[in-house]
Amino acid sequence: MAVIKSLCVFCGASDAVDPAYRDAATRLGTLMAAAGIELVFGGGRIGLMGLLATAVIKGGGRVTGVIPRHLHQIEVGARQPLGELHVVETMHERKALMFDRSDAVAVLPGGLGTLDETFEVLTWKQLGLHDKPIVIIDVAGYWAPLLHQIETIIASGFAPRSSLQLMRIVKTADAVLPLLATLPEPRLNPPDRFSLT
Ligand code: AMP
Repeated sequence: MAVIKSLCVFCGASDAVDPAYRDAATRLGTLMAAAGIELVFGGGRIGLMGLLATAVIKGGGRVTGVIPRHLHQIEVGARQPLGELHVVETMHERKALMFDRSDAVAVLPGGLGTLDETFEVLTWKQLGLHDKPIVIIDVAGYWAPLLHQIETIIASGFAPRSSLQLMRIVKTADAVLPLLATLPEPRLNPPDRFSLT
């Protein structure tokens, strides 16, 4: 079984969203803290990101954020960052460091940034560059249209059916950690194979 010590979570930077999504972010953070799983995230204090990291810290857990310098003011502001914060120069560095620092990835509801981050780790996995678990948290069916589009991509011949195995889908934050606990050890260790940075 894989031992997951750190989980990278992608999620929205907006909090003007359905309370079900906000609650899922808080719940996941609370559960991660209770399980002793470190959060690796985008470093911001805003939106679901901020709720998630606040919940981990409140629960006594560990938080590592990665933020590009030009977003520091927008996503952290003048306040103390939530947890340990790494300031990098580019969006690419942010994604690479978040990925390198985590044993698995989970995706809460989010916007275009969340999609970008999610599809990057999915396509890296598709290309055989890593084998880390990727769990999509389909809170209240938020990701259903996207999952439908992936089915269309497969049905249209643009991706093999095996693409569905790149990710696992759960309905609630509560289902994430129990699922991760049952998954096998990743077969590839990316730092041995190549560098993302
Ligand atoms: P969103 O899902 O659009 O609310 O964005 C969620 C987070 O993704 C925010 O912290 C954005 O700064 C971040 N983000 C957006 N685009 C990128 C990108 N290309 N690389 C890394 N992070 C990004």
